[in-house]
Amino acid sequence: MHTKTRLLIIEDEAAILNGLTDVFLYHGYEVDGVMDGKTGLHSALTGKYDLILLDVMLPGMNGFELCERVRSEDPDQPIIMLTAKSGDEDIIQGLSLGADDYVAKPFSVAQLVLRVKAVLRRSHIGLESQRIIRLGNAVEVDSANLSGQCHGRSCHFTRREMEILQYLHSNNERAVSRNELLSKVWGYAKNLQLETRTVDIHIAKLRRKIEAHPSSPEHIITVRGAGYRLVAD
Ligand code: CA
Repeated sequence: MHTKTRLLIIEDEAAILNGLTDVFLYHGYEVDGVMDGKTGLHSALTGKYDLILLDVMLPGMNGFELCERVRSEDPDQPIIMLTAKSGDEDIIQGLSLGADDYVAKPFSVAQLVLRVKAVLRRSHIGLESQRIIRLGNAVEVDSANLSGQCHGRSCHFTRREMEILQYLHSNNERAVSRNELLSKVWGYAKNLQLETRTVDIHIAKLRRKIEAHPSSPEHIITVRGAGYRLVAD
């Protein structure tokens, strides 16, 4: 058993890697640093890390591919991507490959430390509400297995998508705001400068899985000015 939280930082810019290593050592973490994708993948798969900070542009293997490979071996491995650009495509690609969060460079170290803590908090809480979620008669999801049957085909969810679905489901048709989701699902403290767009990206992905017609959703309803509401039937 490790008593300290173990971080793996995969980043090829020495200045950033050294800076982050110092910061997280200062905060009491155990930190390993790796500067290329292939060594990073090996470390990620063998090192039992509590969380991985993963740069996108890396020699050997890029961060997206690395993320996908790690996720296919260990779906629960917490990963935060460090994206070079703040462009939507990078973010969507990172999240769709299963990263728990992303931080766009240049980032504030204080913000990154908060996000690391938030992701770790979530990963330790786990999934705890109702296991089977039924929506209408065409969707049945097993939250513990992150999968289910949606409109006659099997569907698979990331842990974060499932947490959003469970949170909306446990709130019984009440409209839930984006900030509430960021606070309760992502574990972010209130009053931070946050990208509520992250929520919308995840909702869009969930709709593509559970809705018969994602552009005119029947289950995850947008409530103008209020957020999202789940209608179970
Ligand atoms: Ca890089």
